[in-house]
Amino acid sequence: MITEKPVCVTGASGFIASHIVNQLLAEGYRVRGTVRKSPEHYPFLLQLPGAGERLELVEADLLKSESFIPAFRECAYVIHTASPYVINVRDPENDLVKPALEGTAAVMAAAGKTGSLKRIVLTSSVAAITDEPDSTKVFTERDWNSRSSLQRHPYHYSKTLAERAAWDYIEQKKPHFDLVTINPSMVTGPSICPTINTTNAMIRDIMNGVYPGIFDINWGFVDVRDTARAHILAMEKDSACGRYLCSAGLLHMRELVELLNLSGYSNYRLPKRDLTGRFGTALMTALSWTQPRDTGTYIRTHIGRSIRYGCSKIKQDLGISLMPVMESILEAVDDMVRKGHLAPPAKS
Ligand code: NAP
Repeated sequence: MITEKPVCVTGASGFIASHIVNQLLAEGYRVRGTVRKSPEHYPFLLQLPGAGERLELVEADLLKSESFIPAFRECAYVIHTASPYVINVRDPENDLVKPALEGTAAVMAAAGKTGSLKRIVLTSSVAAITDEPDSTKVFTERDWNSRSSLQRHPYHYSKTLAERAAWDYIEQKKPHFDLVTINPSMVTGPSICPTINTTNAMIRDIMNGVYPGIFDINWGFVDVRDTARAHILAMEKDSACGRYLCSAGLLHMRELVELLNLSGYSNYRLPKRDLTGRFGTALMTALSWTQPRDTGTYIRTHIGRSIRYGCSKIKQDLGISLMPVMESILEAVDDMVRKGHLAPPAKS
């Protein structure tokens, strides 16, 4: 269902957003992307197929509340992805919560002034669902993170407050458009933008010997192209509604290291020491206090505990199938080598 009216993608320069822009252009949509600098800073967007005819870049900032009003003019849909995705920050209030929350409030208010708008698709996160595993349950769209704060998992806190604010706006103002959220787990895969995103940087760090051993932790992953596709399906399908948890599967750190060892990356400084037992967990918990604050909190809330996500709603409602996480991670690593974020594998 291609519309004549543009689709606005906020934070178009980002890892997920640039894939959304690419797929929208490939489908024939007119796209308006918001960015923070002038358009010539984004050749990787301007050179996408179809961009010459159908991509317009406009400046907007989450902290400049009026800046989204002209960006949304005449748009049929807004896909709001812009938000800082950083784990360790010096000032959680100003570096994370303010841009996430005030930015979402600005986006909702600007949408309210855009008569042509049908729907906003918001990139939320599993961070708005929970900030720690619970072995007694499978997390679904019904769950809300109620534990994070400025001191505990501030990134999770920023995503929870931002998503809540968007739903509160819908409930209180009953606007002419509706809201759908996509709540991905850790998004990996090859990137269109030249920067490295936080999830891929974690995989790079594992390969560069940053971790002292393999410890008892697992992560939910989903491919960036599937995540982008989910946003577009959520936009296109009239019947889409509410929140959509989006995670393709879990990978234990041991499985991740094994995968990389068996896939031609054994010459990297992959962790070798097995710290997955009780001693290792105690050691890593002690070591977590030497880490930057938010990495330390993450280790302490996740080590030795497995998280489970129920993703049947996204598959049923949007009809999407999510590619296996191992495939996506290998493509991410290959891409990081190509882009120079990782040294090329040494010849064995
Ligand atoms: P990313 O590559 O860092 O993209 C973040 C985008 O937000 C960039 O375009 C950035 O612009 C923009 N942004 C940040 N602060 C801004 C501000 N003050 N004003 C305007 N734009 C601002 O991260 P990503 O991985 O694509 O994440 C995109 C969204 O997905 C975020 O909402 C994130 O919370 C969510 N998410 C990500 C993951 C994941 O694993 N990647 C998982 C779940 C949810 P600049 O390029 O100018 O910095």
